[in-house]
Amino acid sequence: MLNIAIFGAPGCGKGTQSELIVEKYQLHHISTGDVLRAEMEKQTKLGKLAEGYIQKGHLVPDDLIIKMLADILESNPNEKGFIFDGFPRTITQGEALDHLLRDKNESIIAVLNLDVEEEILTERLSKRGEEQGRCDDNPEIIRKRLETYKVQTEPLIAYYKKQGKHFTVKGNKPVNDVFENIREILDRLIYQNK
Ligand code: AMP
Repeated sequence: MLNIAIFGAPGCGKGTQSELIVEKYQLHHISTGDVLRAEMEKQTKLGKLAEGYIQKGHLVPDDLIIKMLADILESNPNEKGFIFDGFPRTITQGEALDHLLRDKNESIIAVLNLDVEEEILTERLSKRGEEQGRCDDNPEIIRKRLETYKVQTEPLIAYYKKQGKHFTVKGNKPVNDVFENIREILDRLIYQNK
C-alpha cells in the first residue's frame, strides 16, 4: 500500500495537490475537513459538535477525529493506499495513525509538507472566503487557524523528521510545478520500496 499524508498550514494547497495525487496514484482520499463539512451539512451529531470548533478556528478534539478516521479506514479495506489530507494535525493524531496502520501491517511512507509564506496563505484564504463562502475563511478565523496550526500542528514536523518521512515541498508555485516536485518524491520512494 502507498500511504501518504499531506500537511501544511491552511491555504497551502493540500486539497488541490491531493486531487492530483489521487488521480496519478489511485489512492483513496481522506480529507478530514471535507468529511466534517459534510457532517455539518447533514447536521449529524458529529457535525453539530464539530461546527462549534471549526467556526472558532479551533481543532476538533482528537478522540472524535481519531474515531472518525478509524471508521473510514475500516470501511475501506481494499484500497491501494490512502492520502490523508489535513490529518494528522496533532502529535496524538500522528501516534494514533501510526497505531491504526500498524494494525494493518502498514505505515505512512511520506509526509509531504507544503510550505507557503504566511502572507500568501492569508491572501489565498481570504480570496477563497469571498469565492466559496466557507464559514471559517474570514479574517479573524483565518488568523486563529494559522495560530492553531503553529501551536498544535507544526510540532508534527519534528515527529516525522525523526522517522525520516518528512519532505518539504515549496507550495508557492504554479499548481503543476508543485505537483511535479511531489511526483518526483513519490516516484523515488515507490522505486526504493519495490
Ligand atoms: P481543513 O478543511 O482541513 O482546513 O479543515 C477545516 C477545519 O476542520 C479545521 O480548521 C478544523 O477545525 C477541522 N479539522 C479538520 N481536520 C482536523 C483534524 N485532523 N483534527 C482536528 N480538527 C480538524
